[in-house]
Amino acid sequence: MATRPTDLDPLFQSAETLPGIGPKLSRVLRRLVPNLRENADVRVVDLLFHLPVNLIDRRERPGISGARPGRVVTLEVTIDEHRPPPRGNRRAPYRVAVHDETGALTLVFFKTHGDYLAKLLPIGETRFISGKVEDYGGFLQMPHPDHMLSAAEFDALPIIEPVYPMTAGLSQKVFARSVRSALELLPDLPEWSDPALIEARGWPSFHNALHKLHLPADGSEALPEHPARMRLAYDELLAGQIALSLVRERVKKAKGHVKLGTGNFSEPIREALPFELTDAQNEVLSQIRADLAGPQRMARLLQGDVGSGKTVVGLLAAATAAEAGFQTALMAPTEILARQHYATLQRFAATSGMKVAILTGQEKGAVRKEVLDGLANGSIDLVAGTHALFQDSVSFSNLGLVIIDEQHRFGVHQRLALMAKGDQPDLLAMTATPIPRTLVMTYFGDMDVSKLTGKPAGRKPVETATLSFERIGDLVDRLKLRIAAGEKVYWVCPLVEENEELDFTAAEERFEALGKIFPNDVVLVHGRMSGAEKDAAMDQFKNGPAKVLVATTVIEVGVDVPDATIIIIEHAERFGLSQLHQLRGRVGRGDRASSCVLLYKGPLGEVAKRRLEVMKETEDGFVIAEEDLKLRGEGDLLGTKQSGMPGFRLADMAVHGDLLAVARDDARAFLSRDRALKTPRGEAVRRLLYLFDRDEAIRLLRAG
Ligand code: ADP
Ligand code: MG
Repeated sequence: MATRPTDLDPLFQSAETLPGIGPKLSRVLRRLVPNLRENADVRVVDLLFHLPVNLIDRRERPGISGARPGRVVTLEVTIDEHRPPPRGNRRAPYRVAVHDETGALTLVFFKTHGDYLAKLLPIGETRFISGKVEDYGGFLQMPHPDHMLSAAEFDALPIIEPVYPMTAGLSQKVFARSVRSALELLPDLPEWSDPALIEARGWPSFHNALHKLHLPADGSEALPEHPARMRLAYDELLAGQIALSLVRERVKKAKGHVKLGTGNFSEPIREALPFELTDAQNEVLSQIRADLAGPQRMARLLQGDVGSGKTVVGLLAAATAAEAGFQTALMAPTEILARQHYATLQRFAATSGMKVAILTGQEKGAVRKEVLDGLANGSIDLVAGTHALFQDSVSFSNLGLVIIDEQHRFGVHQRLALMAKGDQPDLLAMTATPIPRTLVMTYFGDMDVSKLTGKPAGRKPVETATLSFERIGDLVDRLKLRIAAGEKVYWVCPLVEENEELDFTAAEERFEALGKIFPNDVVLVHGRMSGAEKDAAMDQFKNGPAKVLVATTVIEVGVDVPDATIIIIEHAERFGLSQLHQLRGRVGRGDRASSCVLLYKGPLGEVAKRRLEVMKETEDGFVIAEEDLKLRGEGDLLGTKQSGMPGFRLADMAVHGDLLAVARDDARAFLSRDRALKTPRGEAVRRLLYLFDRDEAIRLLRAG
């Protein structure tokens, strides 16, 4: 049996075993770890992979007048004045005015305690502050400095210090201390990369790379081209390529079941559709039918821009499987989406006699039992659902086709867990996140790729405009007219970085404000609502009287209300490009002209400005994806986090993209010699896979 090499044990301990980290802090730390599995603890290795985004170099002391926006600087300042927010306005920041001989600056604090700041920054005293400066309408400010120290405290600091991406409730000091204890647990591990490559590139070992980045010594460690960063990025890419290659082998080589359609279900469905399939849809369907009819298992990725009509392709594929006596499971990432699919499938399949069901966390008691029974005895042909589909309690009579909608939202292990419920089922993965060709390989390996190009006939382009927040009044006036004319509007409120609480507040406040203007016409959907509440609101908007849907980004993927024609995206400058594209894809689905308003609050940074321009210039998802990739290189964390792409933690494709081909070749060459991971380098590679959570590939070795 394959088990994790024991020298990794210290790294896989819960972070709570480190001094100074208790349950409370460990909950805070969870927010720093992308894609953390549910109920999983933050581990020591997760801390080590949380790399500094910046450095405080105490040698960099430009004075206020020399501080450039966007740079982290250290300033020696005198505290002039405290300006607490006006009473009753908890959103306004607390400001502290400071100066040095060269100029003046404002320190800015949101949601803070005045008493605490008064103690930390006494008026008239000198303090050393470090942090990133910003240009705020011509004035320099520094929001939430990383350090505010007295001369004595300052002298005790190292010359160069890492600055980590933070989250509410955590301080640099506490995090840096935890990472230092984590580093002490890091063993020297055998080399898993090609030694010739490491040598040629002049890269440090994995062990040394982590030490260098967390304990910076020369000031260049924050640069993405730093050898230590390159090394770790490469490790992550290599782990991905090796795992993919192993998984792919398993998915593709296996013999599948031949599924020959009779047309008994698919013909009536096709006739019941209120539209003709596009040429692209027909083309993709025949590819899928050929795969289903073949003896090999299907592993196909269906890429189609938002609104291109993937769902109905999935339905017809399921119909073919059902004709051959096989069940289909369609898994969607959110409850709203699963329910919407169910409604669509139900509507189109109704007359054909094909039996469709839904299973999410919301189906309980007798209803749930009925679905489980139907799946087990084979009377249900197609089930739409969420993660609930791969729970232990679910078993199928004859699962032959697995369809994953919005594939990039799921991990490989989730996909495999669902597929394990059938005997060699075929796989159709659908994605609307347009993935540049260069990246398809990274995420999906050698799956066959089908593309739904173009949109169904009759679609009108979405007119996109940007509008400064000050003009929200004009916007509302225009909305009044359009709503009076019977149009429906999505109003999207943004994620406020690192503060879940504020997200909901923002959406709720907008909901209330709009409710006053459009009484009885506005509904609200956000992630905190229960499934039933969300459904009710969505239903009001889709089928009921509601004209305006105020939502957080829960509506980002897949939601389909064809007669919604306007989408307003508030604080559009905070969204990543692909997310904006996804959101805009909610409109332009019917035959009426649609529009998208990107409401922004200036001043805009360069990257944000460019993003909004791209949105105005094009609706082509592929162009947008390529642009996104370029822009995300520019240290825009928000964009990376919200881009909706399955994340690499250490590799930044915009900078390290070239390493991908190297990793792919290395993975191939290595696996051709040691597919079972049995040689000494193979043993080292096992460690690599565990470190980057790609160990499901090792379990496949065992099973296969
Ligand atoms: P996506 O590819 O984004 O998942 P959907 O499957 O939700 O897109 O389809 C978007 C909308 O287009 C749905 O309302 C669907 O019924 C409709 N649709 C799908 N195919 C066609 C077609 N050939 N002609 C017209 N409308 C279509
Ligand atoms: Mg869809």
